[in-house]
Amino acid sequence: MTQRGPQPGQSPEQRAKELKRRHVETRRRQARRRRKWLAAALAALVLAVAAGVVVARALGPWGAGRGPAAIAATRAASSSSAPSAGDASAGGSASPLPGLAPTTPLSTPAGEAATPTPESTPEPGSAAQPSFVVSRALRDVRTLEDIGVRTAGSSAEKAGATFIARRLRATGAKRVIRTFKLPNGKTSRNVVARFPGATKRTIILGAHMDTKAPSPGANDNGSGCGALLEIARCLGERSAYPTVELVFFGGEEMIDGNPDHHHFGSRYHVEAMSAVARKNAAGMISVDMIGYGPDFVVRSMGKGPQSMVDLLLRQAKKRGLPLTYLRDPGASGWSDHEAFELAGIPAAWIEWRDDPVYHTSADTSGHLSAAKVQTAGQLVLGALYDMDAGDPWRLAQ
Ligand SMILES: [Zn+2]
Repeated sequence: MTQRGPQPGQSPEQRAKELKRRHVETRRRQARRRRKWLAAALAALVLAVAAGVVVARALGPWGAGRGPAAIAATRAASSSSAPSAGDASAGGSASPLPGLAPTTPLSTPAGEAATPTPESTPEPGSAAQPSFVVSRALRDVRTLEDIGVRTAGSSAEKAGATFIARRLRATGAKRVIRTFKLPNGKTSRNVVARFPGATKRTIILGAHMDTKAPSPGANDNGSGCGALLEIARCLGERSAYPTVELVFFGGEEMIDGNPDHHHFGSRYHVEAMSAVARKNAAGMISVDMIGYGPDFVVRSMGKGPQSMVDLLLRQAKKRGLPLTYLRDPGASGWSDHEAFELAGIPAAWIEWRDDPVYHTSADTSGHLSAAKVQTAGQLVLGALYDMDAGDPWRLAQ
């Protein structure tokens, strides 16, 4: 029997009871329906929020209200609280890593793991080379900029090194921090990370972390550091044929009036290289100031082997990039390639120039060109992935 409700022959009490039962049942049905609708609405809301987050991430930091104008406004508002003295420790403003506050949660390794960028992550099992994702590099540039003026031996320079070492942890690379003394008695440091390849022959990529007061060093040289961190992420996904050593140098800028008092981190690194490390050093590229200027140049002192310069010129030609050669004027090198070149290691410096605001407080991320950082970063990364045993500069030696 499927019929329900009052049946013929029921007493008034039975009918009343039956009506009450039907009433209660109706109320329950309505409550169930309301719960179902509520659950569906909640699910829709969660999906919409998730979609919003994905879109915001895909748009990158420029799409999240941090465009150049927004950044400039932020800088103007925060400049009074940013460390302005050349030495944060001497100035007593040794604030710990302002850039590592929750405003930049994606800089943590956990964030990296949780939010893979679709365009940079190859399909499982695919042999595709990871691509340089400039928004990631620029995010790290801004963190370094937020740390503030990072003069050699200052607590801010140390904070920059700590941040970089922490970012490298996510790549799985073996990392070490090597400290060294400056002539003024302060301590500076290099952060070194190694990505083993198919040969022990090694390409060294370098970028200096320190800045010249009063510059927060977005272009000089947050841009090079950000690019190297992005290259590190790619190498963590897929190694290159040569072993790659990334060195984030301390103390590149001049620390006093003595024109030879600079390039301390790179000089220390070359001096400390063992005979085996020197034998395996196939080349060095300094990535220094790659975010601003009309001219894309590869530079050297013209004193050592030029095979790394030639290799980068060939790479650029292959990619249709307007890279030209520029020799450092004068007797000394103008970036960290100097010590390597003088040690007989093929060395080159990659740079976009000129930046009229370098070494000033106006060297902020707001004036950087994402396209220029992308071009230089992808050129260096592409050169690494293109190297093989057949390279004419005897990489496989
Ligand atoms: Zn520099």
